[in-house]
Amino acid sequence: LAKLHSIIEQLKDAGFKVTPQRRAIIDTLHNHDPKTAHEVFTNLKEDYPDISLDTVYRNLHLLVELGVVTQINLQSRDSARFVISADGHYHYLICIQCGSTVKVDFCPATTRITEDFKFQPIKHVFEVYGYCSQCQNNEVY
Ligand SMILES: [Zn+2]
Ligand SMILES: [Zn+2]
Repeated sequence: LAKLHSIIEQLKDAGFKVTPQRRAIIDTLHNHDPKTAHEVFTNLKEDYPDISLDTVYRNLHLLVELGVVTQINLQSRDSARFVISADGHYHYLICIQCGSTVKVDFCPATTRITEDFKFQPIKHVFEVYGYCSQCQNNEVY
């Protein structure tokens, strides 16, 4: 909860109004698996019947710009998933069949890049696309 509080403070510091809808978006993503904009929209629609998918997209991208939210699965707008940045630094394996995501707890940029290449990374993207174990078992592809 303290983390949620610091996210709200971060928004205020950046000069953004923390509207109930923005708060609800953060609540929806907080401590959850990465969600698509559509999943966030479906979640919010119960409490905010007037909200549009476009509003959700706009707010998610604003939160990404502020660094509060990280966008994963960068291939397309429809498959993009969003996760709270403060939940940790992770990378993801993304199933191109069912869209499920698996969190990877190592970062290729931290050791090999800094040590082997003497390069100081500021920002990086590392995503792996493929088939999850369940989809491999189903052999649907
Ligand atoms: Zn799958
Ligand atoms: Zn990393």
